[in-house]
Amino acid sequence: MEIDAAREVRTTCPYCGVGCGVLAKVAADGQVSVRGDPDHPANFGRLCSKGSALAETIGLDGRLLHPEIHGRRTGWNEALDIVASTFSQTIAEHGSDAVAFYVSGQLLTEDYYLANKLMKGFVGSANIDTNSRLCMASSVAGHRRAFGSDTVPGTYEDLERADLIVLVGSNLAWCHPVLYQRIAAAREKRPEMKIVLVDPRRTMTSDIADMHLAIAPDGDVALFTGLLAWLGQHNALDRAYITAHTSGFGQALFAASALDLTSVATATGLSEDELVRFYSLFAATAKTVTIYSQGVNQSSSGTDKVNAIINCHLATGRIGKPGTGPFSVTGQPNAMGGREVGGMANLLAAHMEIENPEHRDRVRRFWNAPDIAQKPGLKAVEMFQGVADGRIKALWIMATNPVDSMPDADAVEAAIKACPFVVISDVLASTDTVRHAHVRLPAAAWGEKDGSVTNSERRISRQRSFLAAPGEVRPDWWIIAEVARRMGFAEAFAHETPAQIFGEHAALSGFENDGERDFDIGAYAKIDAEGYERLAPFQWPVPSPGGGTTEHLPTRFFANGHFYTADRKARFIAIRATTETRTTADFPLILNTGRIRDHWHTMTRTGKSPRLSQHIAEPFVEIHPVDAQHHGIGDADIVRVSSPRGDVLVRALITPRQRQGCVFAPMHWTDQFAAKGRLDALTAPLIDPVSGQPALKHVAARIEKFAAK
Ligand code: SF4
Repeated sequence: MEIDAAREVRTTCPYCGVGCGVLAKVAADGQVSVRGDPDHPANFGRLCSKGSALAETIGLDGRLLHPEIHGRRTGWNEALDIVASTFSQTIAEHGSDAVAFYVSGQLLTEDYYLANKLMKGFVGSANIDTNSRLCMASSVAGHRRAFGSDTVPGTYEDLERADLIVLVGSNLAWCHPVLYQRIAAAREKRPEMKIVLVDPRRTMTSDIADMHLAIAPDGDVALFTGLLAWLGQHNALDRAYITAHTSGFGQALFAASALDLTSVATATGLSEDELVRFYSLFAATAKTVTIYSQGVNQSSSGTDKVNAIINCHLATGRIGKPGTGPFSVTGQPNAMGGREVGGMANLLAAHMEIENPEHRDRVRRFWNAPDIAQKPGLKAVEMFQGVADGRIKALWIMATNPVDSMPDADAVEAAIKACPFVVISDVLASTDTVRHAHVRLPAAAWGEKDGSVTNSERRISRQRSFLAAPGEVRPDWWIIAEVARRMGFAEAFAHETPAQIFGEHAALSGFENDGERDFDIGAYAKIDAEGYERLAPFQWPVPSPGGGTTEHLPTRFFANGHFYTADRKARFIAIRATTETRTTADFPLILNTGRIRDHWHTMTRTGKSPRLSQHIAEPFVEIHPVDAQHHGIGDADIVRVSSPRGDVLVRALITPRQRQGCVFAPMHWTDQFAAKGRLDALTAPLIDPVSGQPALKHVAARIEKFAAK
């Protein structure tokens, strides 16, 4: 496309799920500058350190600019032909479940939609899963259990209107900084607002917390199940709401009643006094929002944690009203968009269910699909196990780096190396994953491509190009469509622009929707190129723009007390808190993995910015002073952190902010960034049985001094 150097282009930040609006400009000398978009409803002009440094991460260093086969530069035709023919041949010889796509929350909705359509409608397998499985799958599963649909009820405005915000397993100050800034600003205006942080670590987010509950790892189910019992015992339930709009309350309360305060204190590592103060505050505050992210989701009991939280909101009728609700915030910029188009192995497009025969038939007819997938496919961890044991013989990885980010990363790398055919579409030429590909397809980067993303509050925003595409790079949707055409599906993949794909996705969301489905942007089905170019950020459900398919939709989810279950009632889930000990005599500590303020995932983008690298220059492990003394470790010593799967060398950071018996290390650094080993080589492929999300925050580990500072 033609790039107008004098114009500021409205686009969206490619990092976290807050989804901030960005204004990007290219000066006459080619220098890019960015600033927060004052008109974007997610950030109103704010940007965090990562967003502010976006211009520093743009450049051609390390870019993959031409298609390659076995490291040899080639043209698009040859590369696309070999991808299409090898996938087709593998399917013909071994069946459709012998191939898989591993995709990413970095993909735009249009890319995600086409990849999902190709795999589920035309290949006939549901073996497409996403790195968002590592980020929010437990929330998706918890929503579906409780609401009958994957619906995030809250909005960012609710955070500003709440009288109590409970942050669970969420270091918002570093991981969703603009959301944190919005809460901090609201708190300045309303000092009576209370904030409780539930986290084993005293993170930077604790700076605005009135109460920090330094909970034991995976103590969340006990904490919120105990809260439900407390609400019942202290006459703090909304009985009218429970009766009118929910089912299963009796069983849930019965299960919760097995826990008295003393046993909750034991399971959570909190004192009874702390529990009573928190429970009393929750019981007394009608306008409460509970925000949660990876500390809840990345757990072998993640889905139960989500439902334990939702149970407390249902029991008090604190959902569907301003300033209330359980609120899962997503990690990736387009984790939510992926959910909308069914970019997970157990979902269909437009929030339909792969296990629902009517949904399958509806999507099949809409796509005119020859071979719709009949059953869920392999979820992320299972997918790489399938690669390892030979079930998957052709794998296409799009815009992600699983060799560094999957649990049990060394085993994942070995599986990819042994896979007969690996295709990678990526912006970079040499991530730890890209180097194992047989075919490398150069993808357009942020600023070079057009599409849309959806943030944590269901707000759809455009990403717009403002840079000419270098070399032979192409947008992901184009690459997927070209492969699909060569596999014989030319008619269904005739799209020529992302606007056409967005319109098709919108039309599917409204197709035969009788009000049963909550996701409906059917009003945009006929969007043209100009309308798409002008598209301003909007939230779904879409208030009726004067007719069409959206008149039945609420403007606030669950305000009318109707949910998406068969009887329209929200479901309480009866949960029993269990405690699991993973530590052993050899590995007596619990390793918690996470993120820091100025880096993103495996640093393939933020690692390019000297400014971002200054914040924290090298990998580290946080250790409580008592544990440090016990192991003879001094501040800044080099420490070996080991699990039964591997080890890394990192710098010791001794701090009372860390809970005794636990250590914390960020997941970003890899060998590529001067680390000695990658952290995810230590984590285990242990998953939540409902959601399939890996338990990345609870790994048995040990520490030992390697060398003095
Ligand atoms: Fe980007 Fe998230 Fe920072 Fe906003 S808060 S600027 S979306 S990284």
